[in-house]
Order: sequence, then C-alpha cells, then structure tokens
Amino acid sequence: MKTAVQPAEQAAPSERKTRVVRSNCRGMLPLTAKLEPWITELCHGTTLPALVHEHGSPLNVLNTEPFQRNVTALYDVAQAQGLDFDVYFARKANKCLAFVDTANKLGCGVDTASLEELQQVLQSQVPAEKIICTAAIKSETLLRLCIISGVTIAVDNLDELMQTAILAEELNRRANVAVRLSGFQHQKKKLPSRFGFDIDEILPLLQDLRDDALNCLPYLNLIGVHFHLDGYSQAQRISAIQQLLPLIDELRAREFPIQFLDIGGGFPMRYLESRTEWDTFWQTQQQALLGEHAPLTYRNHGLGLTPVEGTLIGKPNCYPYYQNPVQADWFEQILTSACEAGTIAESLRKRQIQLRCEPGRSILDGCGFTVARVESRKQQATGDWLIGVSMNRTQCRTSSDDFLVDPLLIPATEKSPLPRTPAGISGYLVGAYCTESELLSLRKLQFPHGVGLGDLIVFPNTAGYFMHFLESRSHQFPLARNVIFDAHIRQYTRDAIDA
Ligand SMILES: *Cc1c(COP(=O)(O)O)cnc(C)c1O
Repeated sequence: MKTAVQPAEQAAPSERKTRVVRSNCRGMLPLTAKLEPWITELCHGTTLPALVHEHGSPLNVLNTEPFQRNVTALYDVAQAQGLDFDVYFARKANKCLAFVDTANKLGCGVDTASLEELQQVLQSQVPAEKIICTAAIKSETLLRLCIISGVTIAVDNLDELMQTAILAEELNRRANVAVRLSGFQHQKKKLPSRFGFDIDEILPLLQDLRDDALNCLPYLNLIGVHFHLDGYSQAQRISAIQQLLPLIDELRAREFPIQFLDIGGGFPMRYLESRTEWDTFWQTQQQALLGEHAPLTYRNHGLGLTPVEGTLIGKPNCYPYYQNPVQADWFEQILTSACEAGTIAESLRKRQIQLRCEPGRSILDGCGFTVARVESRKQQATGDWLIGVSMNRTQCRTSSDDFLVDPLLIPATEKSPLPRTPAGISGYLVGAYCTESELLSLRKLQFPHGVGLGDLIVFPNTAGYFMHFLESRSHQFPLARNVIFDAHIRQYTRDAIDA
C-alpha cells in the first residue's frame, strides 16, 4: 500500500464540487461564499459527518495553512519595499493555540489582549520580544507578568504608564513600552477613539514626566509608537502614519529609543465572491425596509438601517463582507502612498524604523468554518420555515448584526426516518437559546432541495472572530470543540485550547 502523503494541491476540488456544495442553500438574495479548496473538499464525503458525530454540534474545523499563506504575503510586500517588518498576530480573533504555534514557527509575533492570552502564549514558548500586550484594561497582575517576562506593553493612558513604572521600579526592571496614540487629523477632523493618548498631548506629557519629582521615566524603555484604528480605511491609516513620523523624530531627539511603529490591525478581507451580489443585496434591503420589496430579513430586520418617514437613517451594522483591495494588496497601497518627498516605505526606511502590524481577522481568512446539525423543521403560518440547528447565535457572531455569507447545506449521509421537507422551501435558521431573537442568520434562506434531519449547516470562513469572539455557555451548553485539520497528514486533532 502506498503511504506517500498527498500534496494538498492534488486534492483541489473541481468547479463542479464547488457548485454542488453551494447548491443546497442560498440567501434570498444570494451572498455566495468564497470557499477555500480544503473546505469544499471536506464538504464532500463522510469525514465531516463523522467529525460532528464524534465531537458534537456545533464544531469548529480549522486549518493553519491559509494563515501561513496570508502572513507570508504581508512579509513579501514589506520585503519588496526593503522594510524591516514584523507581523504580530492578534490572537483575540481566534483562541486556538494552533495559530500561536504556527505564528511562532513562522517567526512572527503575537498580540495578546488579556492575562490568560499572554500566559498561554508564553507557555507556547513564543519569545518575549515577539509578544506585545494591547489589553484594553491591564490589571497589576498582567503588568507584572509583562515586566518580568520582558513583553512589550502597549500603554493606553497615564495611569497605566505610571503604574507600569512603579511596578518596574519595585521589580527592579525596565519595562518595554509602546505608547498607543489616537486623535489623528483626517480630512480636517480629529478621529475619535476611546483608546490611547492624544497625539497632540504626548510630547508635553512626557516632558512633564521628565520634570516630575516621581521621576518614573528611568523605569520605562519607550521603544515603540502604536495605533490601532477602528474600521478599514487606508486613508485614515496613511494620515496616522504621516502624523506619527515627525512625532517619532521628536521622541528620538528627546532620547527616547523608538525602534518601531506599530500600525495595529484592521486589515480588510473579503468573504464573498461577487461585488454585484453585495451591492444588489443592500439596494434591495433598502427597498425592503421602505416597503418596496418583500423582506430579505427576519421581520424585516434593518441590519443597522431604520426607516423613518419614507427614508432610511443609520448605516449598515455589518462587516463589509465584500471589499477591495484587501490584505496584502491593501497593505502595499499604504506603503507606496505619498509621504514627505517619497512614499511611506521610503520615509520608514530613511528613519531605520521597524514597521509592525497586528492583523487578526484578515490573516485567518480561509482558516476555518463552523458546522452544526439540523434537528428540526417546521413551517410557520406565514409560509416561512424555521430550521432548528443545534448551535446558538453566539457561536457565529461578532458585534455586527449578522453573518452576511450564505451557509452551505450538506445533506445527511445516513437516511433519516423522517422525510425531507419539500424542495424549494425558504425560511430561517434558528438556534438553541430560548429567545424569540435567537436566529443563526437574520437573512431569509432558500433550500432548493429541501432540508432533512441530520443535514449539516456549514458557516464558511468563521475563523476570524465569528467562532469565538462572543461564544457563551448560557443554558450550560458546552462550548464548541475545535479540531485542527492537518492537510499534510490528512488528520484531525483537537486544539490544545479545549484541554
Ligand atoms: C482587535 C485588535 C487587533 C486586530 O484587529 P483585526 O481587525 O482583527 O485585524 C489589533 N490590535 C489591537 C490593539 C486590537 O484591539
């Protein structure tokens, strides 16, 4: 018997397989998911039903190969610009330790957002200089661990800075810190943020600290300047970098040893195949909310928009599931945009400053999906069907209103004693929490081949935030298990985070 490992490329599914896997469930209107070959492949055959049988529903299935590809693409772009560059993976976007290990193997860093995240990353043998702590709230315990282990602290405010200095003095160490900055001017307005020091106040503040009797600066190594902006705007990041370069010069002139500029995360990604589908969905959604089209969502949910006297107010409270450019292309455009007499890349090179970033979601693109089993079907008086699925809303949710990507339906491999629904039904996926609003997707879905008990529903591309960010154990439901697919050995192992 041949035991040679099949290269992943050889398993690339045919277009037909992709079409088949998308054919059993589509949105009303469709928002067709971008699918990685490994996901399409796994949606055929008996492996996935066996995994759900073994591990329960829902189940998160993950693969670190696309992560490596996504990270490498960023390094390639920076290298082509001659930059000293490092990626710090924002691990709050996915809790699995497989990604921490992969980041470590790739030699890139990790951004941690809590004491527990940091402890785990240190236990995974990630070197301290490859870790930054950007936790929004930092307890004394967390600050101590950062200082003792030599992890860089992204400091948000003056209390945090002073507390860090006091603890460092007590521990007889110098703490590595980066100041988080905000309040950048963009299009003649200041960008508002809850985070960071105001860019206009940091120099006087550091001067005051130098003059202060407490004299805390000797305990701080101010080695970096950091920002992380809400949203996905290239132009805002360009503004921020342009305003930080002169600040870095000023800081260095005052003998602060600034080594890096960290531009945070928020690198955009794309979940959908088609811009036309995305645009059409939102145009029709607006018509539906104004009563000019049949509702696309449960009880005509606005997804952020509210009709008021014949017009719509608000803005979509949803990720831009289709956007362009994304990832490395988006990043390259920032580096090559105009700055001073040349480009941003040139301005960074000239200063011999390291560029860092902290992407989470976008480097998890293609790295995972969530699968759950259909347990019931019923038709409502309105004619719509409700498909009961054993998972709850928090297992595929972020702070935005809905997951605007069509799920996939995989017909059960074992015959059910109960008949399938008729073909061509439409309705909604409902979950396990006991509330009226417990919908797994607010969008109305169509099932051209009906729905049977034991069918599997796959939510594609959920590795970035969707599977873990809001997951809860309400009703005492266990958290979903996480299995890692190793494409080389074609095996599935549980991630160590579940241990
Ligand atoms: C959440 C967060 C990130 C990651 O953002 P993505 O949108 O996932 O790329 C990076 N840095 C900080 C400080 C964050 O809070």
